Amino acid sequence: NDDPFSRRGAALFVSAAALVHNAKTIMAHAKAKRLIAVIKANAYGHGAKWAATVLASQADVHDFAVATVDEGLSVRQVLPKKSDQIVLLGVQNVDLAPVMAENYLAPAVGNLDWLLAARDLLQASERSLPPLRVHLAIDTGMGRMGAKTKADLSSMYQFVMGEDAFELAGVFTHFATADDQNQAYYDQQKADFLAQVTALDIDSKYWHVANSGSALFHFDEIPTETIRVGSALYGYNPAYPAKKTDLPLQPVATFKAKIWGVHQLLAGEAVSYGATYVAQEDQWVGTVPIGYADGYHRTLAGMTVLVNGHKERVLGRVTMDQIIVSLSKPVPINTDVILFGQDGQGKISIEELAEYGQSIPHEVLTGIGSRIPRIIE
Ligand code: PLP
Repeated sequence: NDDPFSRRGAALFVSAAALVHNAKTIMAHAKAKRLIAVIKANAYGHGAKWAATVLASQADVHDFAVATVDEGLSVRQVLPKKSDQIVLLGVQNVDLAPVMAENYLAPAVGNLDWLLAARDLLQASERSLPPLRVHLAIDTGMGRMGAKTKADLSSMYQFVMGEDAFELAGVFTHFATADDQNQAYYDQQKADFLAQVTALDIDSKYWHVANSGSALFHFDEIPTETIRVGSALYGYNPAYPAKKTDLPLQPVATFKAKIWGVHQLLAGEAVSYGATYVAQEDQWVGTVPIGYADGYHRTLAGMTVLVNGHKERVLGRVTMDQIIVSLSKPVPINTDVILFGQDGQGKISIEELAEYGQSIPHEVLTGIGSRIPRIIE
């Protein structure tokens, strides 16, 4: 059987049309000229090579961000043009600076020591390397990396501008509360960033600050022409349920599985570990080949699924590889089950699933395991 959905009994369907629509929609909403598409963690589980290819060829996106060197090298295979920028967000192992330069990967850099060590390694390389393009990080309140003072930023900036081994590609900060109600913290971070970059007279073409929460909810106040967005691209609101948006983003992913077993529980019979669910009366149930090893977390016991447009429920505990769902009537083997996403007959949003599972959409999507084929729609 060559159809991966039928073979595995579960798949994540990803829509290129939705991805392109979301990229255009969020850029228009934030009045952005440039989008750094955040495709780390395999494009939040959707497939990084696929997302990069679609965005570059259909949405005119030429800047991408991943988290690690290996992610960058993998995406580079589908973006051979060095003018397609790949940013490495987060702290990087300086030993790999020559690999980054050679493959046109542009790391975020948070301190002068890193630059000093990188310069020595780049100069010592036996190959002639292009300049390493760097994005200088300013820590305005996320506390992960970056210059905390104007002096810190100034020392990095002057060093990069004065060294042939480097080329300035960006200056950025990351917001800690763009997704929630803490406007004061957001405002303070934004003000700190602006104070630092203007004090050094760094050209605004280098600035990028807005993640999805910022682009969705602070779009009037973004001081940059470039936004750096992940979740909105994949069609969900990272601030749900604290903040709602009417922006017509489209979910890129639909997580579907198949009912592979149908049987009847008699009143008093239990299902799954711990025998926590006991049938009150005779009822039909279906067994679905998906479990917590696939990222369908144990916290999703009791969660709604859709079968032929009907809301059904996960009965008892989620096991490693299987769940048992209620059925209002027996259905044929191979009937589809929507775990999240949309079919003609209904919708379960990733936001509501994540909230039910005491998680966030980012974690649910990035946790969808390697046993689940990704199928391009
Ligand atoms: N910028 C940085 C530095 C990030 O770490 C992330 C995601 O974690 C993003 C941007 C994108 O965030 P979002 O998915 O909320 O748009």
